[in-house]
Amino acid sequence: MCGIVGYIGKKDINTILLNGLKELEYRGYDSAGIAILENDNLEVYKALGKIKNLEEKIASSSKTFSSTEAMHSKAGIGHTRWATHGKPTEINAHPHMGEYSYVVHNGIIENYKELKAELERAGHKFLSQTDTEVIVHLFEYYNNKLQDTKSAFKNTIKRLEGAYSILLITKEESKKIFFFKHGSPLIIAKGDEEILFSSSDAPLIGLVSQVV
Ligand code: GLU
Repeated sequence: MCGIVGYIGKKDINTILLNGLKELEYRGYDSAGIAILENDNLEVYKALGKIKNLEEKIASSSKTFSSTEAMHSKAGIGHTRWATHGKPTEINAHPHMGEYSYVVHNGIIENYKELKAELERAGHKFLSQTDTEVIVHLFEYYNNKLQDTKSAFKNTIKRLEGAYSILLITKEESKKIFFFKHGSPLIIAKGDEEILFSSSDAPLIGLVSQVV
């Protein structure tokens, strides 16, 4: 079980997510990634090994949100992975994606095989070997059916067995992060017109004064 960070606000989101992930490095990890959503624009970056590799990838991407664009509110999620299901590869690194949503997850989804088989029968295509990927497909399965993101997320959570903390972003609701914890740590923190998420207190120290 490794690290999660999340941010909704107007500050330079790449820096906030990357700094947060660096604070979680002491826990050990095999890969890292972030996904950022601004209106209809959803971007993802993943890298094997150190956060430095991820940082270099983001820096070399011309598409990356820059601090000069910081006037708009953005939602972003980040992850350091300690592989439990599937090898440490870039494809297995989080965030995992569906058609229009991304998820990061700490922990284990114990019933992922049954869920994956069910979703594959419903036409969902999987890219990774992880247990995590079922979460985002399950969310989209329910959202496509119900046309309601909150109900879709609630229905998704009801189906998951195991210990987990989750952050999910979706193009359907670009100013939100859906979150849930069950037997695995997750802190939600309120700053000045911003919300931060983290699986440990280290990334939040000095940034916020209220946490749950
Ligand atoms: N079970 C997930 C995976 O293998 C999450 C591992 C973690 O907590 O980092 O990708």
